[in-house]
Amino acid sequence: MSLTVVGSIAFDAVRTPFGERPRMLGGSAVHFALAASFFDRVRIVGPVGDDWSPAEEAVLSGRGVVCEDIVHVRGGRTFFWSGVYGWDLNDRETLDTQLGVFEGFAPRLSPAAAAADVLFLANIQPDLQRAVRTQARDARFVALDSMNLWIEVARDALVAAISEVDCVILNDAELRQLTGAPNLIRAAREVLGWGPSAVVAKQGEYGAALITADGFFSLPAFPLADVRDPTGAGDTFAGGLVGYVAAHPEEPVDLGLLRRAMAYGTALASFNVEEFGTERVARLTGAEITDRVRALATLTQFEVDDLELRP
Ligand code: AMP
Repeated sequence: MSLTVVGSIAFDAVRTPFGERPRMLGGSAVHFALAASFFDRVRIVGPVGDDWSPAEEAVLSGRGVVCEDIVHVRGGRTFFWSGVYGWDLNDRETLDTQLGVFEGFAPRLSPAAAAADVLFLANIQPDLQRAVRTQARDARFVALDSMNLWIEVARDALVAAISEVDCVILNDAELRQLTGAPNLIRAAREVLGWGPSAVVAKQGEYGAALITADGFFSLPAFPLADVRDPTGAGDTFAGGLVGYVAAHPEEPVDLGLLRRAMAYGTALASFNVEEFGTERVARLTGAEITDRVRALATLTQFEVDDLELRP
C-alpha cells in the first residue's frame, strides 16, 4: 500500500519561550511524512528551491520517505515560514510567510504518487489541494488540513476542496471561523454536510475531538511537563492518524478504526512538541510510539460504578 502527501516543504524560523531556531526543516508535508512513515511507505510531493540541500532530504529518506516526487525549481527559494510563541503555546503569531517556489506551482503527480491508496492534502492553497485530489482518483481515503489564512483569502476554494475529501482535520477555532457556527459540534456538523464522513478538531494542548454523523470521540493531549516547540504538532498528529488508516487497508474506515487512529496521532504529536521542528520525530522509534499509545489508553480509561445518586 502507499500514502501520498502533498503540502509545504519548508524552512521555518521559530521562537518559543524555550529557545529558537533561525532556520530549520519544516513544512506541513514534512511533519506529516515523518510521522506517517511509521505506518506505510510515504511519498512526499511539493516544490523546493536552490536552498534545499541533501542534508534536509536525508532527514526524510532516513525515515524511508520516498523523495522522488519533490520538484526542484531552479533559481527558486524554498517556502519559508516564521513564527513566534508566547507562554501560551496554543497561541502563535506568524511573522512571515514567503511562498517562494509555491508561487506558480502546478502539482503534477507521478503515476506512482497518483496511485496512492491513501492521500493527505496537507496545508497549502486549496486550489492546489483540489488539483491533486483530481489526480488521485482511486484513493480509498483522502484527508485534508488547512489554516486560517486560506479561510480568509480562499474560502470558496477551501469549501470546494473539503467537499471532495473523506476527512477534514482542522483546529477547532478554524472550524468555527470556517462555518461561522458558535460551537464545535455545530461547526463539525455543518462541515459533514458538505461531504466528508469525519471531522477531526485539533485543540492544541487540550487534545483532539472526532465527529462523525453518528459518533463522537475525544482524547486529551498526552500530559507532558516539558513542551519546547509546538510547530508541526498538527501535521504530526495528522501523520499518525492518517498513517494508521493507511496501515489497515482491509478495514472499513469507521468510528472504531478512527478512534484508534486518534490515539496514534495524539502520541506522535506529543513527541513532536518535546523538541524543535522535526528534531524529536526524526529519531523516534516504533517502540516509543507504542508505549505512549498504551499509556494514553490507561490514562483515559475509567469505570462506571452503580452509585445511587440522591434524588
Ligand atoms: P502546524 O504547527 O502543524 O500548524 O504546522 C506548522 C508548519 O506549517 C510549519 O512547518 C510551516 O512551514 C507550515 N506552514 C505555515 N504556514 C503555511 C502556509 N500558509 N501554507 C503551507 N504551510 C504552512
